[in-house]
Amino acid sequence: MLEISSASVKASRARTRALLAWYDREGRDLPWRVKQGRADPYRVWLSEIMLQQTTVEAVKPYFAKFLALFPDVNALAAAEDQVVLTAWAGLGYYARARNLIACARIVSRDFGGNFPDTEAGLRALPGIGAYTAAAIAAIAFGERAIVIDGNIERVITRLEAIDTPLPKVKGEIRDVLEGLVPADRPGDFAQGLMDLGATICTPKSPSCLLCPLAVTCIAKARGQMTDFPVKPPKKGKKVLRSLAFVALDGKNRLLLSTRPAKGLLAGMAEVPNSHWAAQAGGLEAQPLSAEWRRLNQPVIHIFTHIELSMEIAVTRIAGPIPPPDGMRWVEVAKLNAEPLPTLFRKVIEVGLRALN
Ligand code: SF4
Repeated sequence: MLEISSASVKASRARTRALLAWYDREGRDLPWRVKQGRADPYRVWLSEIMLQQTTVEAVKPYFAKFLALFPDVNALAAAEDQVVLTAWAGLGYYARARNLIACARIVSRDFGGNFPDTEAGLRALPGIGAYTAAAIAAIAFGERAIVIDGNIERVITRLEAIDTPLPKVKGEIRDVLEGLVPADRPGDFAQGLMDLGATICTPKSPSCLLCPLAVTCIAKARGQMTDFPVKPPKKGKKVLRSLAFVALDGKNRLLLSTRPAKGLLAGMAEVPNSHWAAQAGGLEAQPLSAEWRRLNQPVIHIFTHIELSMEIAVTRIAGPIPPPDGMRWVEVAKLNAEPLPTLFRKVIEVGLRALN
């Protein structure tokens, strides 16, 4: 048992060493980054806030502009809101800019212009969430914080072939990282994993041949690289039901109505049908009083957000009668001239078959 765990510690160390060596060689040069050393907390914080929801390339010019206008956190704290917001304009998600101002003022006023140097202290500041606090703590202060972003999630779930879906998998990713993050270079390690995810272990076509961790990657060994991370199950569509009424008169005419001018299938032709709801309802929605026969063959139709199950009731009435208000009788032979959506074409097909 002891042998197994010491073997796994050795394997983890080998992975860590391989990643750091790769980062030293291949890690991206970024304006806010200092390789093999501690970066300026202001620069790390500024870049991490800007990078939330935004790409590295989009952030670079804004980062340069902010450093020119506000070279340190005190300068940013002293700036007028409008000046900061104007400098931010175009970067989007403006709540980030407001939090940036609020955070700079707290750091300047309450901490003498020095960012708190722990993950917990950083987490208490406006606009700094769990990921950002861990990233700043590791990169700027060398704290052995566990940093997990989307790139790191992808690399770790592939390395270990962890098939727990996101976001539940985060606990397991954290456990793996606990065994990998080195005490002496936690910031470089986090940035190395981020870079690996951004440039080699990419979502759709990872370049495993160039990967420093390939020899220990379980997903690669199984040829299942893109199976990880497992996405959360898609939320099911809302299921609605309805009862459609297919009525033929003695002249082989079908009863049709027109859908409301707004909403799904607006203005299209339809056979009369009950309100689309959790339950199809009964014959109370019948458009005319007749002997209805309910079929045992619903038509299922998928809309973007809705799965509609339309049950069908059919009737054949003896003679021509005036159509109910807002409805019309249309010869079956002329149905092609009607704006009938696929859903109702299917319903009519099933209904007519049952009547013939
Ligand atoms: S071997 Fe391939 S799948 Fe595994 S971590 Fe490296 S790039 Fe990702």
